[in-house]
Amino acid sequence: MSRTIAFIGLGHMGGPMAANLVKAGYSVTGFDVVPAALEAAQAAGVSVAESSAQAAAGADVVITMLPAGKHVFAAYEGEGPGGGLLAAAKPGALFLECSTIAVEDAHTAHQMALDAGHHSLDAPVSGGVMGAQAGTLTFMVGGTEEDFADAAEVFEVMGKRIVHCGGPGAGQAAKVCNNMILGVSMIAVSEAFVLGEKLGLTHQALFDVAANASGQCWALTTNCPVPGPVPASPANRDYQPGFAGALMAKDLGLAVEALNATGVQASMGRAAEEIYREFSLDGGAGADFSAIINSIREASTA
Ligand code: NAD
Repeated sequence: MSRTIAFIGLGHMGGPMAANLVKAGYSVTGFDVVPAALEAAQAAGVSVAESSAQAAAGADVVITMLPAGKHVFAAYEGEGPGGGLLAAAKPGALFLECSTIAVEDAHTAHQMALDAGHHSLDAPVSGGVMGAQAGTLTFMVGGTEEDFADAAEVFEVMGKRIVHCGGPGAGQAAKVCNNMILGVSMIAVSEAFVLGEKLGLTHQALFDVAANASGQCWALTTNCPVPGPVPASPANRDYQPGFAGALMAKDLGLAVEALNATGVQASMGRAAEEIYREFSLDGGAGADFSAIINSIREASTA
């Protein structure tokens, strides 16, 4: 508990994650390139620094929660107030890279941290903003057993399920694979509901059958894309996220990068990436990803 933490990237996810660390008694110094994010974190008890380097200088643990791989590289080695983390941190600091980035970028970031004399884990999360606020995120972690054991108490403050997936990059690999399943299954569930509508089935009837049969999946029983059967799903509040279409498009883009790098034949994953990329460009970026059902319905003209 006596360890000090630098938290870099205090946006939708990082802000509440840092706030939970403060609540648990950690001394947390944060930095974000956007002043409004810094102010919100300060109001939640985070000490704010004038630069990433200043935040990292006294820290035992450095957490990054940034949009994409290029931001992580900029934070680790870039110039200016948002950069320079690796050089500024105490030798042997523990870097926890929690952003969702490409598997290849996770390997690069890990090596950069090691070369600078630090410890490193990739630790992307699922659970969304609500999970970040409630401290119930799932962490998917890649790195050594020793570093995982060392980081566990920090993850446990922010999450309720912490899975050591393997060596460096394994956390990002698990995230990319899981979200590819999710994107494909949400499209499948949405297509089935639209087909059911055309065949004269009520949403409830299809739900009652599929939720208790072999069509059962999270996209159906938790994030159901039609209003009614699952009262807490975003469909009941005009598809307010939830998990935004833009983030699903981003994660499927990372899945396709990994498919290309490995030569895996995955027609469903690639199709899902195209469908969500178009959905996101076509006005769905800010809606919950289950709003894909509206695009499928609109395209079903016959
Ligand atoms: P966000 O855009 O709200 O927050 C990112 C923050 O990083 C921003 O405040 C930005 O100003 C800051 N930033 C960028 N470059 C910086 C730098 N060099 N130094 C300091 N700060 C910098 O994004 P978010 O929703 O919090 O997501 C963060 C990561 O978590 C993403 O990789 C996302 O894919 C992933 N994720 C998000 C969700 C979700 O539901 N929002 C769920 C799971 C995973």
